[in-house]
Amino acid sequence: MTRRFQGDRLLVATHNTGKLEEIAALLQPFGVAVVGAAEMNLPEPAETGTTFVENARIKAHAAAKATGLPALSDDSGIEIDALGGAPGVYTADWAETPNGRDFVMAMTKTVEKLTASGHPRPWTARFCCTLVLAWPDGHDEVFPGTIEGEITWPMRGTQGHGYDPIFQPNGHSISFGEMDRWQKNRISHRADAFEKFVAGCFG
Ligand code: IMP
Repeated sequence: MTRRFQGDRLLVATHNTGKLEEIAALLQPFGVAVVGAAEMNLPEPAETGTTFVENARIKAHAAAKATGLPALSDDSGIEIDALGGAPGVYTADWAETPNGRDFVMAMTKTVEKLTASGHPRPWTARFCCTLVLAWPDGHDEVFPGTIEGEITWPMRGTQGHGYDPIFQPNGHSISFGEMDRWQKNRISHRADAFEKFVAGCFG
C-alpha cells in the first residue's frame, strides 16, 4: 500500500531550477506549493549511486532528514542505445566544466561520440526519470518514468533545458527544445513518473 502525501508544502530536493519549475507546474493542480533545496540552504549530497533509483533515494532521504519535511527528489538522464546506455546517470556530469555546466558542449560531445561509434541512425534513446518521495521517518516510495525517442542533430529549439534540443520524442517531428513547457509536460519522462506518483500518493 503506497503511503499518501498529506500537507500543502512539499520540499523538492533539487538545486536545478529547470526541474523545480517543471515540478511546480505539474503539482499546481493539486494545490501543493513547492519549496526548493536552494531556498532551504540544503547542501547537495554526492550522487554516488550507479542507478537513477539509488541517486534519487540519496537526495530525497538527505533532504527529508535535514528538514523534517517530506521530500521529493528527481534523478534523471538520457540513455542512448548506440552508446551502451551512456550517459545515463552521468548525464549531468558530461556537462561539467570548471566554470559550471555547459550543455551545448555536452550535446556536441554526445553527437561526436555517436558519429565516431559508426552506428547508423536513428540513434534511439530515452529520457528516464525516477521520482522518490521520502519521509523523515525513513519511509519512501519510488516512481520511474521514461519517454522513448531519438537523438537529432543539429540542436533545435531554445525552450526547455539540458539535452532537450537534441531529443525528438517518438511520434513527434519537433525536439523537446522546440516544445513549449505544457506540451513537453504532457508527455515527458517526468510526466510519466509524475502520473504514477500522483496516483500513488495523491490518488
Ligand atoms: P540529475 O540532476 O543528476 O538528475 O541530472 C540529470 C541531468 O539529465 C540534467 O542535468 C539534464 O542534463 C538531463 N535531463 C534530465 N531531464 C531532462 C529533461 O527533461 N530535458 C533535458 N535534459 C534533461
